[in-house]
Amino acid sequence: MNIAAHLARAGRFAAERPALALGAGTLLTYGELAERTARLAGSLRQRLKPGEPVALVMANCPEYLEILYACWHAGLIAVPVNAKLHLNELAYILSDCEARTCFASAALATGLSGLRGGALRDVIEVGTSKYEAMLAAEPLPLADVPPEAPAWLFYTSGTTGQPKGATLSHHNLRVMSWCYFADVDQESPWTAILHAAPLSHGSGLYALPHVMQASCQVIPESGGFDPAEIYELIGAWPNLVFFAAPTMVKRLLDHPADADTANLKTILYGGGPMYTADSVAAIERFGPKLAQLYGQGETPMTITALPARVHAETDHPRWLERLASVGVPQSAVEVRTADAHSHSVGTGEVGEILVRGQTVMRGYWRNPQATAQTLRDGWLHTGDMGSFDEEGFLTLKDRAKDVIISGGSNIYPREVEDVLLKHAGVAEAAVIGRADREWGEAVVAYVVPQTRESIDAAALDSFCIDNIARFKRPRIYRVIGDLPKNNYGKVLKRVLREMEKEHDG
Ligand code: AMP
Repeated sequence: MNIAAHLARAGRFAAERPALALGAGTLLTYGELAERTARLAGSLRQRLKPGEPVALVMANCPEYLEILYACWHAGLIAVPVNAKLHLNELAYILSDCEARTCFASAALATGLSGLRGGALRDVIEVGTSKYEAMLAAEPLPLADVPPEAPAWLFYTSGTTGQPKGATLSHHNLRVMSWCYFADVDQESPWTAILHAAPLSHGSGLYALPHVMQASCQVIPESGGFDPAEIYELIGAWPNLVFFAAPTMVKRLLDHPADADTANLKTILYGGGPMYTADSVAAIERFGPKLAQLYGQGETPMTITALPARVHAETDHPRWLERLASVGVPQSAVEVRTADAHSHSVGTGEVGEILVRGQTVMRGYWRNPQATAQTLRDGWLHTGDMGSFDEEGFLTLKDRAKDVIISGGSNIYPREVEDVLLKHAGVAEAAVIGRADREWGEAVVAYVVPQTRESIDAAALDSFCIDNIARFKRPRIYRVIGDLPKNNYGKVLKRVLREMEKEHDG
């Protein structure tokens, strides 16, 4: 079944309902959006054969969803790419997927046109007369695709190595959408979803269950994440949900608290670690309107979930521990923790998180070697480390390769970071290992101070002695203005490791 059938269906059962809005103003109804999508699909099929990839290198904009659905409607593969990447990184992804056609935002179209010469032939700038002319094509009947046909090439954000295209099928995306309602958040009669985070990533994936339910898709006028604008849009749209990376939730909390947030339904957070103190502050500010998901491009948005009702159980004896977890496995997947030989480890023990189920990708696009490393014996090896508690809640420790082995003991950087963040003088912290003759590896902490005043390393050291095992405490502190992050706000530990090498030189 073609995932675009959900839009065609909404175009009939919710023809008059708002489908797409820019800020507070509705642009299209579901009837209109479905019609435009079928026409755009018609135009695409005049240029491309079914099964070909089409790249979307665009900041969030109203056209994004019609292009995404037009690709699927026409039986093409959508390749949504993070528009904030460097031109060299974009060039790598475009040549890896071999897209002939690319939709681009105005600001990017010229740069991308310079990349033509490989597979890329056609760069279509959205909002131009060329784009609008495509919408005059005859509407295409919905393409018949097998469930396993690729629908979305999800280029992993590449905190390590070159990005790889996780190949997600129509079926993967359909099951992901079901999991949203079964495990993450349930819908009240009509909701709206605000896309303040990149549509090329989690926010775009979560557009799908909301198209299924004919919720209005709201694009902020800024095209990005602006706390003041978000508070305004919460005022404008009843039952609003939105996806936010933890750093975005923190920015919302740092914004003055006078806005009325009664309209807010749910903040869906995930994609990186949320510190418990921030979860508690968000619950105090918004009420228990938070739901967490843990996933990765290889099994989109679908490993575990921590729904709003768990956030609401403030009198539960393990409330804080549960908030520090990523919740319980979503209903369409099996999740286990395993040692280096893929043998399951016991409750409370740390192992690599393995996932099996109908949301797991078919493999990486044209990369059988990476696929074979990641999909082994039917299980997706996530590279994340975690442990289950007796009630089935999973707590993430770290990416497998980020674990520090010092004096033969495993040290999970997140544990050390959690302690450092409790210190009043620390705004952000990232912990890595550096080669050490005596210990194998030694713990190094990069800390961003809360104010401009410098942090006293001796004070941090005694704070760590009071809070964690001595062998886990950092041997070196490096105070830094900002942590290196990728465009999704994930801390780039490989950049910190490179910086650390420079300290040796
Ligand atoms: P990506 O494939 O770019 O979405 O990155 C996925 C990775 O982000 C996962 O493998 C985790 O390391 C991390 N991640 C995703 N969700 C969470 C979460 N809720 N808490 C902590 N880390 C997360």
